[in-house]
Amino acid sequence: MQKVHLESVRRKTGGRIHLTPRVPRGGPVTTLCGQTLGEGSYTAVDSAPDCANCIRRSHDQARISGAFFAQEEGSELLRLSLEQAKTRKPNLRVLPHPGTEKDKPVVWPAPKPPPESTPEQLGELATRGFKPSGEGVWRSPLGVIVRLRKHGKEWRFAELVFEGEVVATRVEDGIRLKAGDVEVVPTDDGFEVRLRKKT
Ligand SMILES: [Zn+2]
Repeated sequence: MQKVHLESVRRKTGGRIHLTPRVPRGGPVTTLCGQTLGEGSYTAVDSAPDCANCIRRSHDQARISGAFFAQEEGSELLRLSLEQAKTRKPNLRVLPHPGTEKDKPVVWPAPKPPPESTPEQLGELATRGFKPSGEGVWRSPLGVIVRLRKHGKEWRFAELVFEGEVVATRVEDGIRLKAGDVEVVPTDDGFEVRLRKKT
């Protein structure tokens, strides 16, 4: 466990030796056991603490953090949290190299193996014939990429990308889109995305 330097303090009139994050030059001091000693009524000592509550709480990270906050020792707390962060496992997520981002085309997530059971209908997508290609991303046999976005619990059609023949046709409820082997047709409350039936 991370050790924080604590200082011993005692009332000038005697009594137990308490612990506190730092004995201030002036003003009141609050001990780990929660007592506030008024200005001028205490003195810093080198001796080991003998207040049982202070000793017990000196092992309690949260208490010490709270005490630091109480004394506005924000920087000490920050140092402590930074040191703790260093000892944590490194984040293994690979971040894109900065600077190369601008000119790059959209990079789709790498294909993942299909989940064990893919439902026939995933929100607005009829999944038959599609291959999952990342979170909410599906790819048709001809390479039409369909992206779904979650609206609450429902997956809704968000985007279609295809470098090939696309036909958009005005229909009663909106536009029907045919792109490669995929069609997007309006329904009463949204769209359905599915593979086109072979003709
Ligand atoms: Zn105490």
